[in-house]
Amino acid sequence: MRTGINHLFIPGPTNVPETVRQAMNVPMQDQRAHDFGAQNLSLFTDLKQVFGTTTGEVMLFSGSGTGAWEAAITNTLSPGDKVLMARHGHFSTLWVEMAQRLGLQVDIIDLPWGAGAPISEFARRLGADRRGEIKAVFVTHNETATGVTSDIAAVRAVLDDAFHDALLFVDGVSSVGALAFRMDDWGVDLAVTGSQKGLMLPAGLGILGVSQKALAASKTATMRRSYFEFGDQLKHNAGGYFPYTPPTQLLHGLRKSLDRMLDEGLDNVVARHHRLASGVRAAVAAWGLQTCAEHPSLASDSVTAIRVPDGVDACAVIRIAYDRYNASFGSGLGPLNGKVFRIGHLGDLNEGMCLTAIAIAELALVEAGVNLTFGSGVAAAQAVYIQSKAATVRLAAE
Ligand SMILES: *Cc1c(COP(=O)(O)O)cnc(C)c1O
Repeated sequence: MRTGINHLFIPGPTNVPETVRQAMNVPMQDQRAHDFGAQNLSLFTDLKQVFGTTTGEVMLFSGSGTGAWEAAITNTLSPGDKVLMARHGHFSTLWVEMAQRLGLQVDIIDLPWGAGAPISEFARRLGADRRGEIKAVFVTHNETATGVTSDIAAVRAVLDDAFHDALLFVDGVSSVGALAFRMDDWGVDLAVTGSQKGLMLPAGLGILGVSQKALAASKTATMRRSYFEFGDQLKHNAGGYFPYTPPTQLLHGLRKSLDRMLDEGLDNVVARHHRLASGVRAAVAAWGLQTCAEHPSLASDSVTAIRVPDGVDACAVIRIAYDRYNASFGSGLGPLNGKVFRIGHLGDLNEGMCLTAIAIAELALVEAGVNLTFGSGVAAAQAVYIQSKAATVRLAAE
């Protein structure tokens, strides 16, 4: 018998706010009714704000982030195309695998898990590609497995410096709606996300931001696609409709979650994620533990991957937190299994929830054999939260 709530501190699915859950409790609708389309048009315009685009299009597919990856690839590339990708975590590894399965020739840069996107190596390979054989560069903006955020603006700069024409693909599944995302400023051609992370919804939508350059590429790309055809989606979306039955409940939920984000202010959403993440990182430092991210400048504001000391099993930490304290932490994926546990801090979250995560992590860490002082992480996070609150109040007064 479990009492109280199950604390969900995983980096997706994230907590769905009560108002969003209630907004989804609606009867089924006629998806071809003459007034159904009008209901959805604002979703596209408001999602463009979240992606940071005024010139691109946003598309909503039934599916998850992985489906959106597939849509991005199959609509804009052709079999045998050469693409440049870095492999430095679970999700970038899966993206490489998908690209290979779909018949792309992947030029892989292997890096330690915990590294960021390899800007200078991208520069070297793109600079050497005089004949423009590389058709696309893929970057995982926020590697959820390692808690590493990469610098997309820097990748754009490298492409521009090399006068390179490759499409820029960005996996924003655990960044869009949580971290700053500037599709137009960064010249992102295909931005991918899913509904169950920053957007605070259940899984079920694969969401894409598509630049005009990517749309132009989709006119000539020859990879096979059917369900994910951009052309079908765009034709129907123009009126707020979909080429096949949309998950209408999710559309209502999305309307509500976008309202919440716009009410809070997108810059404030980003600032809140930074503030909350800073507290979690302060706790990790107070425990004397290391994050998986190789350098503080890479630290993600949506998830922190924490290395446990040698001889301690991170799976035990997660198991204890779940079984004894009704709290879910993210596991170490792939080679990080047993070495890392992750605290997800994105979506509908506040200081109290982060302090709960930290306090429960302390219990679980100690029970799993880590030597730390109870309350050390909590106190370190509290110090961050009160300082940054004070700064916010000062700013508002000025
Ligand atoms: C969650 C996640 C995915 C996979 O998305 P699904 O919605 O589970 O298909 C891909 N990339 C990143 C960075 C993620 O965090």
